[in-house]
Amino acid sequence: MLRWLILFFRRRIAVKLTLTLLAFVAVVEVVAGAYLTRALEERAVQALEGRLVALARLLQDDARTLLAPAAAPQARREFALRTSRVTDARITLILRDGRVVAESDRPLEDLAKIESHRDRPEVRTALAGGVGRAVRRSETVGHDLLYVALPIQDGTRTVGILRLALPLEVVTGAYASIRQVLLAGGFLALAVALGIGLFVARRVTRPVVEMQSVARQMAGGDYTVRAPVRSPDEIGKLGRALNVMASRFREKIEDLEREQATITAILDSMVEGVLAVDGRDHLLLLNQSVRAMFRLGPRLGPGKPFLEVIRNADLFDLLEACRAAGGEMVSRELSLTTPVERVHEVHALPLRLGGEGTGVLMVLHDVTELRRLERVRTEFVANVSHELRTPLTAIRGYLETLLEGGLDEPDNGRRFLQIVFRHAERLGRLLDDLMDLSNIELGKVTLKREPTDLADVLEPVLAIVRPQAEAKRLAVAADLPPGLPAVSADRDRLVQILLNLVDNAVKFTPEGGRVTVTASPREGMVEVVVADTGVGIPSTDLPRITERFYRVDKARSRELGGTGLGLAIVKHLVQAHGGELRIESELGKGTTVSFTLPTARVEEAA
Ligand code: ADP
Repeated sequence: MLRWLILFFRRRIAVKLTLTLLAFVAVVEVVAGAYLTRALEERAVQALEGRLVALARLLQDDARTLLAPAAAPQARREFALRTSRVTDARITLILRDGRVVAESDRPLEDLAKIESHRDRPEVRTALAGGVGRAVRRSETVGHDLLYVALPIQDGTRTVGILRLALPLEVVTGAYASIRQVLLAGGFLALAVALGIGLFVARRVTRPVVEMQSVARQMAGGDYTVRAPVRSPDEIGKLGRALNVMASRFREKIEDLEREQATITAILDSMVEGVLAVDGRDHLLLLNQSVRAMFRLGPRLGPGKPFLEVIRNADLFDLLEACRAAGGEMVSRELSLTTPVERVHEVHALPLRLGGEGTGVLMVLHDVTELRRLERVRTEFVANVSHELRTPLTAIRGYLETLLEGGLDEPDNGRRFLQIVFRHAERLGRLLDDLMDLSNIELGKVTLKREPTDLADVLEPVLAIVRPQAEAKRLAVAADLPPGLPAVSADRDRLVQILLNLVDNAVKFTPEGGRVTVTASPREGMVEVVVADTGVGIPSTDLPRITERFYRVDKARSRELGGTGLGLAIVKHLVQAHGGELRIESELGKGTTVSFTLPTARVEEAA
């Protein structure tokens, strides 16, 4: 409880101020009161003493007579009683030897019992020739008395002493009311001091308390609060300074936040993954690309240990290698298998972080597509060489045979020449397809788009494959709904697309099968579907089937006169028209190839 009180008083400025003021007023009052009482008492005693001395001097002649040895005790008594009655003072007559011969407060018969007054201080002074004076508590009367003793001289001889005494109360009683007034004044002063103390304290401390709460809110990060500025004094200035500080802080924090947001936005919009760790391998930052690469949730991020967030030992190895390299940039190509395998070129640079050790900055560049393209290019060159070599080898072989005498055998010679011709044709077809594909890819082919009726195009295509289909006893049917909108397409290219697809369907469908071509309108497009009941394509080959030279069975395709470029050309042509190619297939059951083309606009059709 006491501790709490001490704390309470220590904590509150208002209480401290008020108490200090009260203590000050109280001390001043006590000191002033004590001084005043003492001064009043002294003056009272002085006044009383003067009165008594004057009285004594008036009575000294009578006293001289009565102190004579011959004086009657009764006369002395009467003198004492009379003067006492008139003056209210206690009168005592004392002989030189100290014997009391008259006393206004004591009857005659008691006098003998009174001890010698020689040693009373006032008597001693009087006997020595001066005016004796003493304040003492009288046993006889029971309160403080002022004694004044006057030596009574007869010529030069002191015959005795006349002593007068009055209770101090006679004068001090009058001062009691003054003391009461003083006391009341003191209390009033204390009350006023308390009032002033409380008022001033509140005036001073209220803004201070408000500022304290404002400062606490600012410490909590709220810089919108403002301290009260009511007065032009120091407290007002403090409030103003606090407000200026808060608005500066706010501006600074907003600047920092803006800067931070810009940096984050830049980092997040980067295609490259960026991440940084500190000297203890804890993440400092990571951008959106890194999050996407490692499928990181929003809770995993800066502040966490690297390996806890990115569980990739290769990347961690690189991080350590970068530290070991001592300031050099370290680059490595890593295959990161989270969540799908992708190849990344990772550059790791040391980050000097001042006192916090050396961190590492990593930039992850996804080179999967680049590497794939490189592989496709190499494969393409190998494929082209291979595709060209096969017919060329055959042509050279047969020509050699012919030159070495084959020409002399008319039957064989003709057969060999036919083979040479077939291979040369195949070479030509291959080169045509390659040129075509490369032109489409390079955008060199301009499509002459016009509203085209699908039925018009499909008819000649089916006419071309029909002999081949009939030979295999295949049912080839077109089923176009009436009122199918015209498509916006290059007629010749559309023929090329359809011919490739229908030709594939016929080629890869065994005897007795069926090939159907259907079409249907779909959201501003027309979808054309070429379906067969053929051998189908294994699902593992399906994703790569449109790549150049990609064939399920190379020998068979070649035997059937294919170049392996047909679907690649189709895909590019469909895309050039703004459509999409989709291939679905089930091994042994058949293949469905569908593609979309935009419908011709009305004004175009007109
Ligand atoms: P190709 O000149 O060999 O026909 P394509 O690019 O047209 O070349 O076709 C590539 C490969 O796709 C073919 O070799 C074949 O293995 C497969 N293919 C294409 N169409 C079909 C189909 N309708 N049924 C089964 N396999 C097909």
